[in-house]
Amino acid sequence: MVATTVIVGGGLAGGAAAALLAQGGQRPLLLEKTAGEHDKVCGEFLSTEAQAHLAALGFDAGRLGGSPIDRVRLVSGSRSAEAQLPFTALGLTRRRLDAALLDHAAAAGAKVERGVTVRQVDGTALATTSGALTPASLLLATGKHDVRGAKRDTTGTLDHLIGFKQYYRADAATFRALAGVIEIVLFDGGYAGLQRVEDGMVNLCLLVGRPRFDAAGGGEGLLADLLREPHLARRLGNATPLLDRPLTISGVPYGFVHRGEDSAFRLGDQAGVIPSFSGDGMSIALHSARLAAAAVLGGATPAAYHARFRHDVAAQIGRATWLQRAGETVAGRHLLVAGIGLVPPLLRWAAALTRVPPTALRRAGLQI
Ligand SMILES: Cc1cc2nc3c(=O)[nH]c(=O)nc-3n(C[C@H](O)[C@H](O)[C@H](O)COP(=O)(O)OP(=O)(O)OC[C@H]3O[C@@H](n4cnc5c(N)ncnc54)[C@H](O)[C@@H]3O)c2cc1C
Repeated sequence: MVATTVIVGGGLAGGAAAALLAQGGQRPLLLEKTAGEHDKVCGEFLSTEAQAHLAALGFDAGRLGGSPIDRVRLVSGSRSAEAQLPFTALGLTRRRLDAALLDHAAAAGAKVERGVTVRQVDGTALATTSGALTPASLLLATGKHDVRGAKRDTTGTLDHLIGFKQYYRADAATFRALAGVIEIVLFDGGYAGLQRVEDGMVNLCLLVGRPRFDAAGGGEGLLADLLREPHLARRLGNATPLLDRPLTISGVPYGFVHRGEDSAFRLGDQAGVIPSFSGDGMSIALHSARLAAAAVLGGATPAAYHARFRHDVAAQIGRATWLQRAGETVAGRHLLVAGIGLVPPLLRWAAALTRVPPTALRRAGLQI
């Protein structure tokens, strides 16, 4: 069989696009370089919009055993402010979610090939570790990793942060303190997200600037350093790390929105990257999949799809990037925590401004 549509990358964007195209009557081919389930650097905060996108695919993320989250607590030094979120999110590992979504796409009729890496793209022609292909439509959903021949132009983005993730088995006090809440802990040189996921685990995901990383002598030193900060020490001082070593990522281009000409459809982080604190990257990835699948099935061009994607999410990505820059200064951090402490609805307002707008979701056919 020669697939008319090939999707490169089996994260949320690729998995959702494969399911949608299969549900639309195609038999797309999805190529994913990893051979099986794997962990990813991600805060694993699955927003209500992301859950709605998944539900529209006939995929119930709730059955995977995640931990519900309906509040956010912002912590900076000894100050903290808490607010109700305007929705209930889910703390769920990418290991479990991404694998289940690929199974869902395969059950819908997509052909999923794991352990195949795409090495080079030229137009829609692909060189892969298992041969060459030239599909009629190509969807690039490789996340943070660019494929040779199709590099993103990330000039001017905020790409100086290094990301880490570790899972912990925490003590009973911490586990109780994190019931229903995501904590965003602001510290000198970066911030961390702390929340429960499934199976009684706690996810610590953090972003830090290069100077603090270098001063700590690298990843292990930095984590040890951060676990001496009073709030994180209280939460994780007695906790057991579950991964052999923290996962890391660098050079994530926050604020990126694809603008160039392309013969491929770019999805997820290949199309736009929102700062992680917003907890909306997965929702944007799923939104892009929905728009791209509709474009492919309806015969629209990649240029028309990219224009629609930009129209839906560029303003949201711009606002979140502005807030991220503000949070990187000491004064900005204090102002954020003090402002939200005094006027908690400010946090709901900031959350609303950094999400895919409801009008765009409804136009894409979601009920929200
Ligand atoms: C530190 C951090 C914290 C975050 N926290 C959150 C959060 O809490 N909530 C949220 O909603 N978003 C969060 N995000 C954003 C979210 O992780 C991404 O936006 C989302 O994963 C994008 O999905 P994707 O499908 O585009 O890419 P990915 O999920 O990265 O998937 C890409 C896939 O492509 C595969 N691939 C790559 N190259 C090739 C190749 N050459 N050939 C074949 N396969 C390939 C990879 O193996 C991978 O499986 C966070 C991001 C970071 C960096």
